[in-house]
Amino acid sequence: MPSEASHSNASPSPTPIVFSPQTLADLKRLQQAALNSDYAYRQVAHLANNIGPRLTGSAQAAKAVEYLASELKAIGCEVQLEKVMVPHWVRGEETAALTEFPGQAQNTTQKIVLCALGESVATPLEGIEADVVAVRNFDELKSMPRDKVAGKIMLFNYPFDKQMAAEGRGGEAYGEAVVYRSNGPSAAARQGAVACLIRSVGGADYRLPHTGMTNYAKDAPKIPAGAVTAEDADLIANLVPQGPVKMKLVLTPQTLPDIESANMIADIKGSEHPEQVVIVSGHLDSWDLGTGAIDDGAGVAVSMETANLIQKLRLKPKRTIRLIAWINEENGEAGSKQYAKDHEKEIQNHFAAMETDGGAGHPIGLNIKANPEVRKMFAPVANILQESGAGILHLVEHCGADIEPLEKAGVPSFSPIQDSRFYFNYHHTAADTLDKIVPKELAENSAVVAVAAYALANSEQPLPR
Ligand SMILES: [Zn+2]
Repeated sequence: MPSEASHSNASPSPTPIVFSPQTLADLKRLQQAALNSDYAYRQVAHLANNIGPRLTGSAQAAKAVEYLASELKAIGCEVQLEKVMVPHWVRGEETAALTEFPGQAQNTTQKIVLCALGESVATPLEGIEADVVAVRNFDELKSMPRDKVAGKIMLFNYPFDKQMAAEGRGGEAYGEAVVYRSNGPSAAARQGAVACLIRSVGGADYRLPHTGMTNYAKDAPKIPAGAVTAEDADLIANLVPQGPVKMKLVLTPQTLPDIESANMIADIKGSEHPEQVVIVSGHLDSWDLGTGAIDDGAGVAVSMETANLIQKLRLKPKRTIRLIAWINEENGEAGSKQYAKDHEKEIQNHFAAMETDGGAGHPIGLNIKANPEVRKMFAPVANILQESGAGILHLVEHCGADIEPLEKAGVPSFSPIQDSRFYFNYHHTAADTLDKIVPKELAENSAVVAVAAYALANSEQPLPR
C-alpha cells in the first residue's frame, strides 16, 4: 500500500455523500417501525385466509386486486389499476392409479398421488391407460429409441436436491429440477409419449404434489402433464424395471378464453424527483392448491408494509415509491410483460426495482443486480440492515421474475436474500398456508425492503448503470 504522503500532490476527491445524515436517521426509524409492526402479517393473513388461493383469472384474484387498491388508497397512495389480459386455466379432476404392475394382488390398483401442471391440456374425460416408462433425465430419454416411448406415459424422475436446499441454496436446487417441469412434457411428446409426469419439484416428505407451469414448445404435440409426489415417483421407478407397469390417468383441466385483470399500482409521489420511480413489489396471483401465503402473499404484504410505514411515519421520499402487485407471475407473467410494454418510454426514469418472491424466511441481506459500484454505495445501508442480521450485500445475475424485463433494460434491481431451506417444501403445494409464516421473520423482511426502498428513493446520487 502506498503511504498517504506519496499522494500529497494529488488532492483526493472527496467521496460524494450517498445518504444524508437525515436519511440514515430516517432509515433507522423505518427499520424499528417495521420490526415492531404487525401490518404485513395482517395483510398476508387477509390474502391467504379471507380471500384464499388467487390463481390468475379466478374470482379470488379479482377480489385481491380490488382489496389491495382499497387498502392502499386508504393509506394515502395514488392507486391505478393497469389493465392486463391474462390466461384463464382452471384445474379439473386429477387422479391416477397403476392398473397393472409386477406382483399385483388380484383386482387391486395402486393409487398415485399427483396434480396437473399449470397450462396442461386434458386427457379424455374417461382418462388414458398406457404403459409407463421412467427416466431420470433428458439424456436418458434421448438415448431411448422412439418405439420405447411412443404411446406411453413418460415419467421424469429427476430429484430435487434436498441437501443443496439444506445448505441454504434452495433456489439453485429448484432451478436445476424445474427444467423438467417446464420442458419435460414437450421432450416426451417429441418421442411420441401420450402423457408426461414429472417428479414434484420440491423437498417435502409428506406425499404432496407440487404444481407449477409447464411450457409447451411449438414444435411438439401438447400432451397432458402432471406432477407426482416424490414418493410416488420412487414407487413407479422401483416397479418399472421389474416388468410392465400400466397407469390409468385422468386430468381434466380447462383453458378458458383470456380474461381482463390488472396490475395494482400504488404511488407515493416523490417530493424532488416525482418522475423517478423506485419499484417495491410482489406478485398477487398464486397457485390454487394452497392459499398463496408464502408464494407470494408474503411478498405483497412486505411491499404494502413499506408504503404503510412511509405514510405512517410521514417520511417524504425524494423519488416516487411505487408499489406494484403483479398479476399472473405463476402462469404466464402477463402482468410484468404488460408493464414493461406500457412503460417502455419511461424505463430510463425507473431508478431501481425490487421484488420479494422467496417466501417469508429470515432475510440475511440484499441481492443486487447492478453495477458493482452500487454495492459499495450501499455500505451505510448494510450497516443499518445488520441490526436485524441482514447486512450481506450480494451481487447476483437475477433478482425476480416480474422485474426481469426491467433488469434486462438495465434498471438496478434488488431482492431480500431469504432463508430458502424450507421454502421449497411447501412451494406450489396445498401446504402453502399462513401457518408457514413466522410473524417475526415476516417483519424482518419488511424491514429490509422498507429500508432498501427508502434508501434508494432518497439517495443523493444516481446509481451508475
Ligand atoms: Zn412466486
